[in-house]
Amino acid sequence: MDGTQEKPSSGVRAVVLGTAQDGGRPQVGCFCPPCTQARQNPALAEGPSCLALIDDRQRQFWLLDATPDVPRQYDWLQERLGVRYHFAGAAVTHAHIGHYLGLAQLGREVVGARGLPVYASPALAAFLMANGPWSQLVRLGNIQLHTVEPDTPQYLSPHLTLAMIPVPHRQEFSDTMAIVARGPRRRLLYLPDIDRWEAWDRRLADVLADVDIALLDGTFFDAAELPGRDREEIPHPTVVDTLALLQEHAAPSRVQVYVTHLNHSNRLWDPAEAATLAAQGLKVARRGNEHPL
Ligand SMILES: [Zn+2]
Ligand SMILES: [Zn+2]
Ligand SMILES: [Zn+2]
Repeated sequence: MDGTQEKPSSGVRAVVLGTAQDGGRPQVGCFCPPCTQARQNPALAEGPSCLALIDDRQRQFWLLDATPDVPRQYDWLQERLGVRYHFAGAAVTHAHIGHYLGLAQLGREVVGARGLPVYASPALAAFLMANGPWSQLVRLGNIQLHTVEPDTPQYLSPHLTLAMIPVPHRQEFSDTMAIVARGPRRRLLYLPDIDRWEAWDRRLADVLADVDIALLDGTFFDAAELPGRDREEIPHPTVVDTLALLQEHAAPSRVQVYVTHLNHSNRLWDPAEAATLAAQGLKVARRGNEHPL
């Protein structure tokens, strides 16, 4: 919890369920300080980047990204919701392991879901239909794919829409989308992975001008986090670069901007480092952050 929590009022909200890069914290086989601390204190352990969208009036929720940590993230959400809300679907940004492996839990080996809506770009939907084990989820009707064309709002409930915006990011198995969720009052941008802001066909400032809350790719703090790597080769904007861009273009002050998708090595796991960044106007997303929409 941080000081930015607000009381739900519109009946639609987003809750942060995970804030780590695909490998989570601790990362398998790693003994860097943040990983070691998280093994010693499991409360510090964190799953990959994930959000829940909740419509309290419909008692339904949707996941933005289905991570390998979905069993824990789902439990944590249901405990928080207190009553049995209906799991109404998942929207997936792209086919990298932290963002879609959780779909496997929906198959006959585990949940045995029936027709759970999965929202995906046409390229990601085609990948899921063509490759096992995902193709089996489709064939057995565990999931029902809903292809979402870019920039075309899709109703999740009468009070909640979702739109996808293409972003440049290693296109190995699928393209990559950012997601804009829109409730009755506010809009939230979820953009966990991008190669470079400069490679995007949109200006970050323009995209931010259309939303109220943004969770952006904060994988690496700065280039020093990856010694020996050419800055140009780092496949993410650093947090330092993102902060500079936000300051340069003076993002509208009403927009609350957070970083998420933190690599295990990121210094922003340290609350003091996160507070220093927040003082400059860029916050670090935390599990449990709640954003009324
Ligand atoms: Zn990722
Ligand atoms: Zn580590
Ligand atoms: Zn990725």
